Amino acid sequence: MKKHNFFAGPSILPQYTLDKTIEGIRDFAGSGLSVLEISHRSKEFIACMNDSMALCRELLEIPAAYQILFLGGGASLQFAMVPMNLMNTKSAYLVTGEWATKAHKEAKIYGEAVEVASSKDKNFNYIPKNYSVPADASYFHITTNNTIYGTELKKDPDVNIPLIADMSSDIFSRPVDVSKYSLIYAGAQKNLAPAGVTLVIVKEDVLGKVTRPVPTMLDYRTHIKAESMFNTPPVFAVFAAQQTLKWLKDLGGVKAIQTKNIDKAQLLYDEIDRNKLFVPTVNDPEDRSLMNICFVMAEQYKELEQPFAEFAKSKGMVGIAGHRSVGGFRASSYNALPKESVQALVDTMKEFEKNH
Ligand SMILES: *Cc1c(COP(=O)(O)O)cnc(C)c1O
Repeated sequence: MKKHNFFAGPSILPQYTLDKTIEGIRDFAGSGLSVLEISHRSKEFIACMNDSMALCRELLEIPAAYQILFLGGGASLQFAMVPMNLMNTKSAYLVTGEWATKAHKEAKIYGEAVEVASSKDKNFNYIPKNYSVPADASYFHITTNNTIYGTELKKDPDVNIPLIADMSSDIFSRPVDVSKYSLIYAGAQKNLAPAGVTLVIVKEDVLGKVTRPVPTMLDYRTHIKAESMFNTPPVFAVFAAQQTLKWLKDLGGVKAIQTKNIDKAQLLYDEIDRNKLFVPTVNDPEDRSLMNICFVMAEQYKELEQPFAEFAKSKGMVGIAGHRSVGGFRASSYNALPKESVQALVDTMKEFEKNH
């Protein structure tokens, strides 16, 4: 049976990416070698790296003053690299979930990391508004999509200090005004590629302003200078990312995918709001994530949680269990998830309601 892949990460990739990746494993760019066994210094791979960067630039309309990097270490390493490279004595964080909390924790190693606002009081089920950001902080850090809690900051915020964003789980899902940010980072395994590569978009003028020594491998300037080839980059994951970026371009880019993402999310949120068995965990439609859609059983139907999980599984749904800190269900609707999968989940919810 065809599976409907709602996993939060690593997660569904376009069929195009899978097909092209299989081809590349057999024969990479007509080289007669597999992408798994070629040199990162080969002309074929250098072309792949350059094309991946060019596609990122084109799709997100990244201005020339920004550098694009493909690094190892995951988004979690960026939690530390950001303060290490950019924070003098003070930084500011919007604490909207578990990943934001982890990022904030790393910044505390380097000085005063101000929590400008947090939604922890309500188990991170909303995006705080009306906070003020200290003008003397080196930067303000946000997490645009809170993968675990299903909230999303869909509007690029206006601040007067450098803005940094963890966009791991909503990068390439919608247009972003990159010029508002000094640095954007994203682990690839949610919307781009298999695990192993992290995309960083950084405006060069924010670098070189800290006095602390930074280890060579953790200094953004090292990787800018070497064009992400200072050491062996994650060759396979970059190749897969290139395929996803091509797929996205052919489909019409981030504006086109945003329309699809809004449509898919609306379909599921409408059913959650309508179905008497389920309630959404995020109430304000403005704060609801288009990527990770969280819901729980209504109070009087709590005992149906396990039966619904089993029913959904019997219908081919995988990966809909909520994160342990929220419970209930989480359906991730990343770029590659077809609308048919969302429709299948909605139909499953309707059928389950009829049976109970
Ligand atoms: C998954 C995720 C991370 C962690 O990514 P790693 O690559 O595993 O370090 C960080 N931030 C967000 C928003 C995520 O969704």
